[in-house]
Amino acid sequence: MSSVFHRASRANLPTAIRGDGCYIIDDTGKRYLDACGGAAVSCLGHSNEKVRAAMHAQLDQIAYAHTGFFTSEPTEALAALLVRHAPGAINHAYIVSSGSEAIEAAIKLARQYFLEKGEGQRHRIIARRQSYHGNTLGALAAGGNAWRRKQFDPLLIEASHIAPCYAYRGQEPGETAEAYGQRVADELQAEIDRLGAESVMAFIAEPVVGATLGAVPPVAGYFKRIREICDANGILLILDEVMCGMGRTGSLFACEQDGIAPDIVTIAKGLGAGYQPIGAMLCTSEIFDTIADGSGFFQHGHTYLGHPMATAAALAVVTQLTEGGLIPRVQQLGEALSARLETAFSDHAHVGDIRGRGLFRGLEIVADRDSKAPFNSARAINKKIKAAGMEAGLMCYPMGGTIDGQHGDHVLLAPPFIISEDQLDEVVEKLGRALDTAL
Ligand code: PLP
Repeated sequence: MSSVFHRASRANLPTAIRGDGCYIIDDTGKRYLDACGGAAVSCLGHSNEKVRAAMHAQLDQIAYAHTGFFTSEPTEALAALLVRHAPGAINHAYIVSSGSEAIEAAIKLARQYFLEKGEGQRHRIIARRQSYHGNTLGALAAGGNAWRRKQFDPLLIEASHIAPCYAYRGQEPGETAEAYGQRVADELQAEIDRLGAESVMAFIAEPVVGATLGAVPPVAGYFKRIREICDANGILLILDEVMCGMGRTGSLFACEQDGIAPDIVTIAKGLGAGYQPIGAMLCTSEIFDTIADGSGFFQHGHTYLGHPMATAAALAVVTQLTEGGLIPRVQQLGEALSARLETAFSDHAHVGDIRGRGLFRGLEIVADRDSKAPFNSARAINKKIKAAGMEAGLMCYPMGGTIDGQHGDHVLLAPPFIISEDQLDEVVEKLGRALDTAL
């Protein structure tokens, strides 16, 4: 038996030996088409030469220098590249090792910003129901996913949650998408009024919701209204692009497509493309300068901030994303994938909705298409789809779960940006087989 404490304690997992483009190969030689990038991570596939070369070159120079003593060339270059392409007034990058760390940093930065600005009464955070922002306690507290929070509730700081923008389940019959978007965005104002605007520091949301809803984009106008409400109440808008950022939806930052810019944005997953664990929290000069001109010290940090091996890998990733024509390719292949999913599954008895942006696509799995009723044994369904996919040689990302009135089972697809049209056919064919076996 394995000595590794696997997350699924007694999981019997195949051993990944080698990566080959969009495939992972196990110790028996079986090839798995990675249609979900693990968890929307592997945007460049599993054998990217430029990232490997950058990591080798960095290792030959220096692997680690603590950021209390030194900065490093790849960290400086990565931060400069990110802020050059970042939306709005985002101008500084704080580089950590994961998405959860980026969220923790964002929450603490928001708090310290208001303290140093002389608005120390602001400490509350508002997020959305069913949201996921990471598994560390601060990030988990911000999130509104009942299944993930449930057993840790007594350990979590207070946060409040409004409705997500989830048209498939939330839009009323006869209501336009625009009216729906305004209605759910206005829940933010109502919650601010309930809490008292002077006590609220930030609203946090994923522009396109990944793991907990399954690639759900907002309706048009939703985030514009959210931005207006944040501005009107002096509240920071934190966008969590850990999963949907770095080109995944067809623009480097997902929020570009909604015509808004955040005060703080978090990225991870695609930033290192799986070659290194890395995340980043990016913020505006207004926030940075308030602290730089105040205490001069952000009271938060980790041993592996700005790790040179991680930043060298991420620099090679983001350079390819911004220079290589890959993001237009994501848009084009995203449409191609969407069309194939519509053809294959729009009449499927258990596929209630097909949605997404770019190479970030989701299928909502339902027991009954007309009533939209989910399966009761929701997590069992997820496990079955995943297992059937692996059996067929396909990695897809089924998620969801029915708990405390939150529901929605889905399969998330987030293939590498280098995927070919033939491989998209393979994804859809194998997914069809997996769904037929599991449902
Ligand atoms: N935020 C979002 C939107 C995520 O999807 C995730 C991970 O799935 C996280 C934060 C946490 O990232 P990590 O698992 O790298 O800590």
